[in-house]
Amino acid sequence: MAYRCFLILLIAASVEAQSPPDLIVINANIRTMDKDVPLAEAAAVKDGRFIAVGKTADIQSLAGKATRIIDAKGRLVVPGFNDSHAHFMAIGNLFSSIDLSSAKSEEDVIAKFRHFARFLPKGRWILGGKLDPAIRLTAADVDAATPDHPVFVYHSDAKTALANALALKMARLGPEVRVLDAGLIAAMQRAIPNGHVRDWPAIAETATNYAASFGVTSIQDTHSDDMASVYRELDRQGKLKTRIYDCVSLSNWAKLAAFGTRAAEGTAMVRTGCVKGFFDPEDEMTKSLAKDIAAADSTGLQVLVHAIGREANAAVLAAFESAIAANGDRDRRFRIEHAAGMALADLLRLARSNIIPSMQPILFFSEGSGVPDDYRKLIDSGARLAFGADAPMRGFDPLEGIYAAVNAGGKRGLTVEEAVYAYTMGAAYAEFQEKEKGSIKAGKLADLVILTADIFEAKADIRSARVFLTVAGGRIVYENTK
Ligand SMILES: [Zn+2]
Repeated sequence: MAYRCFLILLIAASVEAQSPPDLIVINANIRTMDKDVPLAEAAAVKDGRFIAVGKTADIQSLAGKATRIIDAKGRLVVPGFNDSHAHFMAIGNLFSSIDLSSAKSEEDVIAKFRHFARFLPKGRWILGGKLDPAIRLTAADVDAATPDHPVFVYHSDAKTALANALALKMARLGPEVRVLDAGLIAAMQRAIPNGHVRDWPAIAETATNYAASFGVTSIQDTHSDDMASVYRELDRQGKLKTRIYDCVSLSNWAKLAAFGTRAAEGTAMVRTGCVKGFFDPEDEMTKSLAKDIAAADSTGLQVLVHAIGREANAAVLAAFESAIAANGDRDRRFRIEHAAGMALADLLRLARSNIIPSMQPILFFSEGSGVPDDYRKLIDSGARLAFGADAPMRGFDPLEGIYAAVNAGGKRGLTVEEAVYAYTMGAAYAEFQEKEKGSIKAGKLADLVILTADIFEAKADIRSARVFLTVAGGRIVYENTK
């Protein structure tokens, strides 16, 4: 009997071991961001995590009947991008209103509608205006571009408006009406749901769809609004494609502490435990900044503080250092958000106290602030750099940020490897997740992005590369169908 039990257990164990992966990526040019094994050709994914990384022939032999096979055809694969500083709801809200003032032809207008329809959840209204009434629009073309989204946009005179078939149907207006006058506009407005710009679940869903299109599989929401419950609900519905570390305002630290929340707590999809402060001499809250930092830190929360300019950075560094002195050694990973314009001597204080510069190359690139030079010095000093975009300030595309970090400052810019690392492993470290994600390695969360061009090539045009496919947790969350 004992022998039989043993045998059954043995069979069960071997079936488990042989159970094929859910998905494999083969024939890829993988830059793993894993310093031990930097290059690979293929990866296998099971239950949302990488289970093997290696050569195509070896990984292919693991495939079973149900395994989905993605042939990368030699394309570049990197870990999913992690944006360490984003305003996620504001990103989603970019799509709550459409501005058609730059559209000069029917094609322009249709392209804008299609762009919105790509990311908005089905049924969400496309609202806005500044449509040139002289542009001749074919009703059939408008409807073909927006079959699932009611459209209602004002003309630039703000006296008449355009509607698509779905909007007309919802407002119970005849399909023959296209251009609405004042009376019909009133009827249409009654059909529009209240609180369009505060419909957080729809806005978050838009943002997560948009993030996936840039290969962004993780963001750190530094907006300080408490949206974790919205993100969790979206995750429960299977619609969340982005892992989110949701920060709240530093002034709310006591509330989090009362719930016993500590840094980076939660699931692989939604975590909390970060609080964000501001250094601004004009602001009343800045007076108690050092006290608040030390108090929040003493409860085990992770503290992030926004600082731009010499004086601000020096003051935040001093506050962080005194909190460390007061509360003792701990793996706390204080962060300075932006950390731009810091004095050279202060740069070296970051590595010493393991304070993370959370920087946005895209934001400061065009201003010639000398920041790229600082990146080089920062990395050489041993500081752990995390990159983000601060979207929707300028853009959201990590490739724009990588381009900026590499090309700004002439020869003193970063290597592509260093810039991608800051956007993956560096960002993961900044949120205590470097053991879970940030590199393509067996055991880690299966987040990856396939790009259309090899940005590591010496003469690569980084900004013309596009995302070909995005995988988050082993699930394909974006495919470039163009
Ligand atoms: Zn910001």
